[in-house]
Amino acid sequence: QQQMLLEAEALGAVGAVASAVAHGIRNPLSSIRSSAELALLEDPAGVQACLMDIQREADRVERWVRDLLLQARGEAVAPSAVDVNQVLAESARTFMAKAAQQGVALRVEAGALRPVLADGGGLGQALDNLIANALEAMPEGGSLDLGTALEADGRHVTIRVTDTGTGLSPSPRDSLFFSTKPRGTGLGLVLTRRIIERHGGTLALQRRDGPGTEALIRLPVALEG
Ligand code: ADP
Ligand code: MG
Repeated sequence: QQQMLLEAEALGAVGAVASAVAHGIRNPLSSIRSSAELALLEDPAGVQACLMDIQREADRVERWVRDLLLQARGEAVAPSAVDVNQVLAESARTFMAKAAQQGVALRVEAGALRPVLADGGGLGQALDNLIANALEAMPEGGSLDLGTALEADGRHVTIRVTDTGTGLSPSPRDSLFFSTKPRGTGLGLVLTRRIIERHGGTLALQRRDGPGTEALIRLPVALEG
């Protein structure tokens, strides 16, 4: 209703495509910058590792731009069965250098899963957005825990992104479309929820009992067939 209209308007104003591109590219790009900064401090062996990180992130951007061009031509990216743990590991890598620079301990706990159906790099971008928010909430360090699990019914995969940061401030309109950051767009969560819903899943954010925030994604597993 009202809230959906506001979100749709915001996306329309910036251009849904433009904002998706900007978000998709900004996270790997910031990872490339962190790796380059680290490389400047490293000995030759360390430099090699940083250059490999940079190359991997550039590949990621290239893949997403390719998906996007396919979509622009009306050629939908065919959904395929993907391993969420692999997508999560890739997103974790993207933010490893940044987390280290910020004094954030990054942990990944990958449960045994079943594949989910995904189209292109959308899921990875959704995870990137949640991880970026978590790190932005911990400028002075903390811990970032990423975890996956298969629900007991065997039909849903859950992905948890938990931080020990500032905690969610209540949204002014009870919507996901808001920003408390000087240069924030407020579009990250809106785009993320769109992507998750397109995959038949749900996104929930909640304050934790301790300090911080927990984001929970729930996705249906791919039907065997
Ligand atoms: P942006 O990051 O550009 O501000 P987002 O849509 O990604 O926009 O997030 C919207 C707002 O939600 C943020 O400005 C922030 O206030 C809040 N938020 C999201 N994730 C977290 C988190 N992990 N911890 C604290 N606040 C968060
Ligand atoms: Mg954000």
